[in-house]
Amino acid sequence: MSRFQVRKVAVLGAGVMGAQIAAHLVNVKVPVVLFDLPAKEGPKNGIVAKAVDGLKKLKPSPLGDATEAGLITQANYEEHLELLKGCDLIIEAIAERMDWKLDLYTKIAPFVAPHAIVASNTSGLSITKLSDVLPEEIKPRFCGIHFFNPPRYMYLVELIPTATTRPEIIDQLEAFVTTSVGKGVVRAKDTPNFVANRVGVAGMMATMIEAEKFGLSFDVVDDLTGKKLGRASSGTFRTADVVGLDTMAHVMKTMQDNLQDDPFYATYATPKVLAGLIEKGALGQKAKAGFFKKVGKDIMRLDPATGEYVPAGKKGDDIVARMLKKAPADRLKLLRESTNPQAQFLWAILRDSFHYCAVHLASIADTAREVDFAMRWGFGNQKGPFEVWQEAGWLQVAQWISEDIAAGKALSSAPLPAWVTEGPVAAAGGVHTAEGSWSAAEGKFKARASLPVYARQHFPESLVGSGAADPLKSGTELFKNDEVRVWTLDGEVVIASITAKLHLISPAVTEGLLKAVEIAEAGYKGMVIWSPDDVFSAGANLESLMPVFMKMGSKGIAPEEKKLQDAMLALRYANVPVVAAMRGLALGGGCELAVHCARRVAHVESYVGLVEVGVGLLPGAGGLTYIARRAAEMAAAGNANADILTFLKDGFLSAATAKVATSAHEAKKIGYLLDSDVIVPNKDELLFVATAQAKAMADSGYRPPHKAVFPVAGRSGIASIKGQVANMRDGGFVSQHDYLLASLIADVVCGGEVEAGSLVTEEYLMALERKHFCALLDNPKTQERIMGMLQTGKPVRN
Ligand code: NAD
Repeated sequence: MSRFQVRKVAVLGAGVMGAQIAAHLVNVKVPVVLFDLPAKEGPKNGIVAKAVDGLKKLKPSPLGDATEAGLITQANYEEHLELLKGCDLIIEAIAERMDWKLDLYTKIAPFVAPHAIVASNTSGLSITKLSDVLPEEIKPRFCGIHFFNPPRYMYLVELIPTATTRPEIIDQLEAFVTTSVGKGVVRAKDTPNFVANRVGVAGMMATMIEAEKFGLSFDVVDDLTGKKLGRASSGTFRTADVVGLDTMAHVMKTMQDNLQDDPFYATYATPKVLAGLIEKGALGQKAKAGFFKKVGKDIMRLDPATGEYVPAGKKGDDIVARMLKKAPADRLKLLRESTNPQAQFLWAILRDSFHYCAVHLASIADTAREVDFAMRWGFGNQKGPFEVWQEAGWLQVAQWISEDIAAGKALSSAPLPAWVTEGPVAAAGGVHTAEGSWSAAEGKFKARASLPVYARQHFPESLVGSGAADPLKSGTELFKNDEVRVWTLDGEVVIASITAKLHLISPAVTEGLLKAVEIAEAGYKGMVIWSPDDVFSAGANLESLMPVFMKMGSKGIAPEEKKLQDAMLALRYANVPVVAAMRGLALGGGCELAVHCARRVAHVESYVGLVEVGVGLLPGAGGLTYIARRAAEMAAAGNANADILTFLKDGFLSAATAKVATSAHEAKKIGYLLDSDVIVPNKDELLFVATAQAKAMADSGYRPPHKAVFPVAGRSGIASIKGQVANMRDGGFVSQHDYLLASLIADVVCGGEVEAGSLVTEEYLMALERKHFCALLDNPKTQERIMGMLQTGKPVRN
């Protein structure tokens, strides 16, 4: 198969979705042209320009770096259709009207490049019907591409082929969306609302029906159907408010209009309370009122009986919360047998979702895998409905569902399909097996697609029952202690996986990392620091230092800190390349660990920063030494007379204000990632790319950097920085303790009381870090910050 090259993408429609899809393409470095209608007044690009401007203000931010909004090329259909000829992929995301979409397709058809893929982001229209109007030569290159809102953060993209879509087109698109856009692809059949919205919204409607039946208020339902149930923390009604009640109604209407023969049809009727809210214009969060409403600081909920808003915040019963904490099989049994209405409600909504998914599997998806991934990635469920069912005991639960159907308790009288209780699924105890997931349409288990793109995922996200390898038990183990596992997958690269909570760096972690370096140097090409979950390291483990501190005070900490600094230098000067595979949080000590590696491979969603001042400390594991060294390197690379201080400012400010980069790209701007570092859009490709980097560096004859002395800004630099911070303190912008911290940070990054331009070593600067770090530990204000953080997890401002 020839490689599908995407040089440029066009997005048609700069509304909620189109503009954000364009923004996300900027995040993953794909050039994008964003089109909208020509403005009737003013500049013709007025509509699209306003949308691009809006991206900078939207929360959560659709852009990893808000200053990059300008990279979106703006266009309108009157002046710029020619631009389409240079696009390899065209994503249509205009308003949800069949006639408007068809009109637009006719208009753009003459400008579509002969190889380009055209795809619609429609959430409810038939892809086949949309395809019908297209010229014959475009039809084989047309399909659905359904992003979820907000597209930067939602992992799911559904791809929907029609009968006339050429199969390799979908394969090519799947590879692009996975690797370059960084998303999880689920292929859906061309049925109303596809997979995630079909199952998800049917589930929300069932929840609304059961909640009314059991007389539960919206806040209690949300408490029960959020995190406690392993679902998105916004529960059911707040999710509806966030999505927008009009959008919800739109999805529901698609079901009402198109699914008359569905045995669950009766449940698709718009609930009265929802219709009432929409009529009043209470469309949820965007209208500042929906099922919930914020009044001042208080959250209120609608009381459907009176139509008034009353104080919200009621939680589910403790006894029910305890049931939810039990093992899967016990949990369902307890809920079902309990007389507590909240427990019965929970059993009812789980039963309804299992029943619904079983009845519809054959028509909406190729296999049960698509349904479960769609619900994980599109609706924030920890596990999909089939997984929850399978985990609880497939046949037992099936029997309970059938009993409820017979007793008239279920939402539809449709029986469970025969495949649930007879044949291979019954024999295997569920729909997910090591052989594959169940295809109800084909009556067999089917393995995951073996597209080449998936060879880039060593440990793809896996489903309950699929027998997927646990990365922390895979490969060949080379060393292990309580907080680090050192192993290899290929015999060429050593992988160090930190297993401690939040991957906090303790003496055991340091020991494990040093051991990994030793092993790698003895017989491997390189080393990668990677863990299978979504955090690189949230920092140093302050609690683990407590016993030493209690016994010996700050004097006892100095040797511990020196060990950590030595470990950082051991990584930096290792004879083999050490690559940090970063994802999620890389804070404090985690950031320091990353900057001392030979290279960083970072997932685009990496949040990086030196945040130590939040606990009243300064970065003490080489972070400030790194800032000083980088400034010297940048000054040397620039002109000979360049003032080091100029290059220190950003680094100083980032450390002194605990600035956290909100994306890998922003981390590059701050300087925690370098231009030579690699940013990876897909989380599941991180290990593959990091190992490839380690090997490539080794194969290119890697040598560690020379240990060199470098110049510092010295006492005049300190005076200059301190002067500025003193102004901020005197103006009341920072506290006295923040001033002290900033002064000490300035002292280290400038190299202490020496002449400007004096040459220093990393060890010298690290000794300064240690001195100030230990002194701060004895400072009551710092102690107050540390205790506050350990006790409440929140920074204390003092
Ligand atoms: P929107 O209303 O925010 O934006 C629609 C855009 O279409 C506007 O910029 C408008 O100028 C343009 N437009 C309107 N009429 C047009 C016409 N006749 N010709 C060309 N352009 C026209 O809508 P949205 O929420 O961004 O939805 C866009 C598409 O994405 C829809 O198909 C929708 O179903 C789908 N979708 C929406 C969401 C969501 O949560 N909003 C999620 C997934 C998919």
